Amino acid sequence: MAKARKRPFIAGNWKMHGTLAEARALASAIVAAAPELAGADILLIPPFTALTEVGGLLAGTGIGLGAQDLFWEDGGAFTGQISGPMLKDAGCRFVLVGHSERRQYFGETDETVARKVRAALRSGLSPIVCFGETLEAREAGRTIERIDAQLDRGLGDLAAGEIASVLLAYEPVWAIGTGRTATPAQAEEVQAHIRGRLEEKYGNGPASCAIILYGGSVKPSGSYSLFKEKNIDGFLVGGASLDAGAFAAIAAEALRADREEK
Ligand code: PEP
Repeated sequence: MAKARKRPFIAGNWKMHGTLAEARALASAIVAAAPELAGADILLIPPFTALTEVGGLLAGTGIGLGAQDLFWEDGGAFTGQISGPMLKDAGCRFVLVGHSERRQYFGETDETVARKVRAALRSGLSPIVCFGETLEAREAGRTIERIDAQLDRGLGDLAAGEIASVLLAYEPVWAIGTGRTATPAQAEEVQAHIRGRLEEKYGNGPASCAIILYGGSVKPSGSYSLFKEKNIDGFLVGGASLDAGAFAAIAAEALRADREEK
């Protein structure tokens, strides 16, 4: 069966990188490449400090703006936190939730992920919910068990209507920032399982429309064959998104694979 028709979705997570000048230069270079990538949905996810600056450069380009995290309350005495309404006000349409670096270094759990997913939806933001197994879990044959637990707890009790606003990103922890990419078969096996799980929970329509990204050391080489897989709808790119040429090349490779499907 061919993959459900969706535009390739390519998101660049800049992590904790970039002065304002660097963010401007990177965003401008991606905007310059945008006409060649017109068939894809492109999303930039800069650090909080650069959101407004990058958002200004993206105005009218069709490239989306996202944030790397949010807090689950909408406002109040929570020093250091950023809320959904603040991100919305800064021009964001998307927000990462549960990135493995947040889980690893900042105590993010499936329970806090569920609260943040709710907060994002309440603010009219689409959460991109990240999950993936550790190397230890994979080697112990517990990948699917880990994914199911993260999905069940992290998505909480969302209704079928709400899941349409949620994107999922399968990011095996052993592949993030390590230079080690999952093979297309490894990524597809998990992502097909995820779609099946969504179908059981929310029905065929929401499951086939769901955007499921792959993330983990995505580079231009290899992105074509990953995108060819039926259940890979795009990429969450970390390191390579800091290089406008590499990021644009990843999107171009996904578009090349996508065109062949048509
Ligand atoms: C990420 O930050 O989500 C990511 C996948 O990083 P990298 O591409 O560097 O592995």
